[in-house]
Amino acid sequence: MSRRVSKQSRADAAERLEHLKLSCREKGLRLTPQRRALLERLVESGDHPSAEQLYARVHRKLPGLSRATVFRILEQFVASGIIAKACHPGRSARFDVRTELHHHLVCLRCESMTDIFNDTLDRVALPDTTAYNFDIVDFRVQLRGYCKKCQRQIRRTVDEKQ
Ligand SMILES: [Zn+2]
Ligand SMILES: [Zn+2]
Repeated sequence: MSRRVSKQSRADAAERLEHLKLSCREKGLRLTPQRRALLERLVESGDHPSAEQLYARVHRKLPGLSRATVFRILEQFVASGIIAKACHPGRSARFDVRTELHHHLVCLRCESMTDIFNDTLDRVALPDTTAYNFDIVDFRVQLRGYCKKCQRQIRRTVDEKQ
């Protein structure tokens, strides 16, 4: 069962990578080895990594690649709409390979960010913001709580205290 899931997610990742490469070309961004390596790491990392995390991951493969270049490429990707910046309560920006409508489960303890796809959330009735002189173009729902790993850690800490 788990094997089937991982095969499936590998297929999804390959498809997503192709899609990202294609949108790079469509946006007129040449697929340099640096850009390609970053796209690959982005697809592999299902955890909405920060620029710093991506730099560490890509650095292993392309040691000559500077931090500044990684940051610049990520900003180019975002500006071209190839990837998105995800709103996150943590200090650093997090990058998202999914630009289509979806929502996030954000862990308040480890700051992990997991995609959630849900029709009810997609159809949330947006308020009239005319009085605020604000024009809504997009929205994402962020559900905050604790991931499985952190729930376990918290329970353990409570148990130790008793
Ligand atoms: Zn957590
Ligand atoms: Zn996401």
